[in-house]
Amino acid sequence: MGSRCRKQKRQLHRLPQSGSHDRGLGELDLDISEVLFDNYTRMYCRWSILLLLLLHVAAPALAAGDVAIAFGGGGCGKLDGGEALPCRAANFETFADTACVLGRNYLHPLIVKTVVGAYATLAKDFPHRTWQYGETGKAEGGPLWPHKTHQNGLAADFFVPVINKKGEPDQVPISVFNKFGYDVEFDKRGRVDGLRIDFGAVGAHLLALEVSAKSNGVRIDRIIITPDFHAALLREVPAIEHLLPLFMKKEAWVRHDEHYHVDFELPSNLRRPLACQR
Ligand SMILES: [Zn+2]
Repeated sequence: MGSRCRKQKRQLHRLPQSGSHDRGLGELDLDISEVLFDNYTRMYCRWSILLLLLLHVAAPALAAGDVAIAFGGGGCGKLDGGEALPCRAANFETFADTACVLGRNYLHPLIVKTVVGAYATLAKDFPHRTWQYGETGKAEGGPLWPHKTHQNGLAADFFVPVINKKGEPDQVPISVFNKFGYDVEFDKRGRVDGLRIDFGAVGAHLLALEVSAKSNGVRIDRIIITPDFHAALLREVPAIEHLLPLFMKKEAWVRHDEHYHVDFELPSNLRRPLACQR
């Protein structure tokens, strides 16, 4: 794996610098400088799975009766009592096993339940789809480089469900050459290399997350997906109209086309402020 990583091409491109700042750093899902992304890929490449298995330290378990607490916000936070999202299950899986090995698949336990519950409800209507989630957070929260949010266990990335040339459910291709999927660039119609985004599935997933969140006493706080896709989503799944106020209206610094980002909110008794130093 290491030699392949050293041989990877440096595909330089400028990404848009515009972005809304009405929530400060919370809006900036990823720092998109090329240097960071190159390093991001290198980070995955350098570590062999065996070594990481040996080094990986499990999250400290909470004592009986303790509850998991999210501190601060997405841009500066931490998590007490984080739980790993399963790396794979009947109808979903991580985008990269390495992310699991690196412990970058943690969330607040209620958000784990929410995500898993949503996938379970989708099994009936999407029997042939294996859903693909992206990065979430670390066991104890904190910076999840190169993301600028994902720090308090309440944010999850989901790769877009796609349909291939044969009309079958498929996944975003993941490799070291496309920065583990995060560098795949869909056009404004949601197409790339014979794949097209299944907007109906995206909408169904968002609705399933909303229902599952409610059943777990939490709620969706914000959804980030490129504005290029908002109209298509609404057209395919009119039932998401009531979720539109949660959609970030402007383009984030990173165009969210290959994945969408969802922030969740916990009840106030499960949150604590955090004095952050910037
Ligand atoms: Zn994200």
